Amino acid sequence: MSAAAASFHSSHLRRAVLVAPGQLEIRAFIPPRPAPGEILVQVRCALSCGTDLKTWRRGHPLWKMPTPLGHEFAGVVAEVGAGVSGFAPGDEIMATPTAPCGTCFYCGRGQENLCATAIDKMVLGAYGDMLVLPAHIVSRNVFSKPRDLPFEEAALLEPLSCVVHAQAMAMPERHERVMILGAGPFGLLQMMALRAAGVREVVVAGRGDARLRWAAEMGADRVIDVRRQDAAAAASQLNGGFGPDLVIECTGQVDGWSDALARTRRGGRVLLFGGCPPGTSLNVDTRRMHYDGLTMIAPFHYRPRDVRRSFELLSERRLGAERLINAHRSLDDLADVFSMMDRGTVLKCAVVP
Ligand SMILES: [Zn+2]
Ligand SMILES: [Zn+2]
Repeated sequence: MSAAAASFHSSHLRRAVLVAPGQLEIRAFIPPRPAPGEILVQVRCALSCGTDLKTWRRGHPLWKMPTPLGHEFAGVVAEVGAGVSGFAPGDEIMATPTAPCGTCFYCGRGQENLCATAIDKMVLGAYGDMLVLPAHIVSRNVFSKPRDLPFEEAALLEPLSCVVHAQAMAMPERHERVMILGAGPFGLLQMMALRAAGVREVVVAGRGDARLRWAAEMGADRVIDVRRQDAAAAASQLNGGFGPDLVIECTGQVDGWSDALARTRRGGRVLLFGGCPPGTSLNVDTRRMHYDGLTMIAPFHYRPRDVRRSFELLSERRLGAERLINAHRSLDDLADVFSMMDRGTVLKCAVVP
């Protein structure tokens, strides 16, 4: 072990900890030595995420407080545990905060997105100087970052993997016309992935002047302000009056799910991407569902193959995804990051320790 590596375990490192809803503390953090198969990562950039905001507001069912936060990141390998091959101290890496076990029922059926390990053993703590990646992530979802890919863009690996998985389920085609409900970071990332896939027309319906302006600047053929314009009428005009081939729901609200089902064309698909609050349910018109031949797709999380595809898309730099990152803050200004997210004045904020 080098002298530099030794200093990681003794010097004064920090990370953000949520101690109660709305209450963050920056605490001293002495990272553990990486165990066999693990990697200690020096975080170079973490990105804000809607999940962080929800957790900050009301806690998270799986993450008991006090809990570290931050799960979208890229960084530099500081130290590797015994048996790690392929990564060495100094390597620039990008990773997802989860990975499947590879051996359970769901993994055996290629549905690694449903693996309990992927959900229960998520790595948190990217809002900090360092974090440890466990062996099951190191062996599947860590990639060498191309040198010319900025850390903040590389940190989009996780959210983009969710989008790639969703679109792998919905299979948009080049001739199709798609409507996206919601102009937040995920709505815009969906739009960028559709653009990269060469889809003919993408309409984004959402709220918030800034967000709709960004959607237009980043490639939407048309934006609909749902507070001022009739989004249902706009949807029905697509495809010469038949309606959109695919509607992608990115609001995470039951009304959004209902709207998505109402707006897709006969024979079309509905991609229910935004997770709704717990305890909510959806009322579906069975007659419409059946006789209009709708396909309902509700993707969750991502599989290693989606992460690889997401890595390729970011490495090729064809999405222009760096445009989503429209603010930068230090760890000390994390409270400011949450208030910007709360007000909807930022898409993705880069948090640099
Ligand atoms: Zn996230
Ligand atoms: Zn599994």
